[in-house]
Amino acid sequence: MVSQSPDIKIPATPIRAPSAVPVDDAVLPFEVASLDLRGRLTRLGPALDDVLTKHAYPPEVGKLLGEAIVLTTLLGSSLKFDGRFILQTQTDGPVSFLIVDFQAPDRLRAYARFDSKRLTPGQDSAALLGKGHLAMTIDQGPDMSRYQGLVALDGGNLEDAAHEYFLRSEQIPTRVRLAVGEEWRGGEGPKHRWRGGGMLLQFLPKAPERARQADLHPGDAPDGVIAHTVDEDDAWVEGQSLIATVEDIELIDPDLSGERLLYRLFHERGVRVFPPLPLRAQCSCSREAVSSMLSSFAAKDRAEMVKDGKVVVTCEFCSSVYEFTPHEAGVE
Ligand SMILES: [Zn+2]
Repeated sequence: MVSQSPDIKIPATPIRAPSAVPVDDAVLPFEVASLDLRGRLTRLGPALDDVLTKHAYPPEVGKLLGEAIVLTTLLGSSLKFDGRFILQTQTDGPVSFLIVDFQAPDRLRAYARFDSKRLTPGQDSAALLGKGHLAMTIDQGPDMSRYQGLVALDGGNLEDAAHEYFLRSEQIPTRVRLAVGEEWRGGEGPKHRWRGGGMLLQFLPKAPERARQADLHPGDAPDGVIAHTVDEDDAWVEGQSLIATVEDIELIDPDLSGERLLYRLFHERGVRVFPPLPLRAQCSCSREAVSSMLSSFAAKDRAEMVKDGKVVVTCEFCSSVYEFTPHEAGVE
């Protein structure tokens, strides 16, 4: 594996007073120095709602794609200015493909492909995914090599996949929590909104031998095989037990600020919260880009795209529709 991994870079400038006001669409980096913990907290409101409501996703599919978006913000928000982080899954479940594209410093777009005939009410994210793999691609610009990490999805959810990734590839003790929910409101304005939140916590002691962690469960190893166990560092044991207490509702609660949540969790140990990194939903498609994609197709394929005297291309990310005359599309 190459070294450009999605590790945490804490900005040099500390601190600000904890905001009592909830701030949506942002990532909050934080540090619990007394436990050698670093992390990030994501709160998503309008940006998540914007991405998910551009498609008429069934609720379960929207929730799964929302979780992938939250995970992407936790992993991708450490990139340098022009970097790009792409998270994709390809699996045999009802949601056969999903992609989240994060362009530093703040742009997000995403979509999922699913088979509505295979959806049943109450399917959780793991069941929707099925088996296959999750790929994470980091592109830090033309002068840097591309990095790709691959994790098997084997009946688990995206949190499980993230844990496996950090255990196998990064060897950084890491816990991730993801939550996505639907908010229903009375009164004026939209009645229904998507909200999401997540937390990533990493144990980064100065002495590497303190970062030992218990191996994954041996799975279907033959009887008699004893799981490889180690004594984890007390600080990391405490960190894991603290993040395990975070409820989904706390991660998505529109009335609870990220700072309040972090102080609620870590106040006894002292937590430093750094300035938030804002996020927004914005697609990078354009008429020019679609036009140049069309011109890269074979003439025969372009001709087959003409329907009712025009060529219509819909962006899979944002559902923008681009119409071209046959002449504009290069059809003779
Ligand atoms: Zn688009």
